Amino acid sequence: MRTKIKFLVVLSLCVFAFMAFKPADKKVILIDAGHGGNDTGADIRGFEEKIITEAVAKKIKELNKNENVEIVLLRDGDTSMDLKERTTIINKLKPDLVISLHISAAPNVTSNGVGAYISSKKTFYDQSKEIAENVIDKITSTGNLAKRRVSEAPFYILKNADCPMMHLEMGFLSNENDRNYITSEKGQTEIAQKILESLK
Ligand SMILES: [Zn+2]
Repeated sequence: MRTKIKFLVVLSLCVFAFMAFKPADKKVILIDAGHGGNDTGADIRGFEEKIITEAVAKKIKELNKNENVEIVLLRDGDTSMDLKERTTIINKLKPDLVISLHISAAPNVTSNGVGAYISSKKTFYDQSKEIAENVIDKITSTGNLAKRRVSEAPFYILKNADCPMMHLEMGFLSNENDRNYITSEKGQTEIAQKILESLK
């Protein structure tokens, strides 16, 4: 418990320091790699959702060349973090946008494609919806993944984040085509690049 408190204090200081030095015109995008640590997320044929979300998050940060966009990773490493902790960090940092990365899985193996969830709350609704639709359009523009819609969902982080936010499902781990693409280096790089393109 003590280590956890120490961790949260250090993290708060980092967030504070970051905010103090943030140029006013720079957009801050917080990437939340879903799951982590003991929480693997979807786990199909040896592929774990938490590993894929972390890989894509790191690529988004690595590949960002836009000086007006600062990418911040909420989870940098394979660590457990519950939804309340994630939301606390989001609301302390107050980023311009949060993208929570996830992969779907369904009993029906033909279910496929990229979709997103946003909060039904009025604040930030239009902004979140517009950005989510743009992100889906860009990712699916390569023709490797099908396009799904933006839906509303009462997810904890979506409900409690005080900023524009989307929960992005980057494909289905239960679908062979999606799985091959999202677990490949090429697929993960392309998804990261397309997410960055949609932030311009
Ligand atoms: Zn997930």
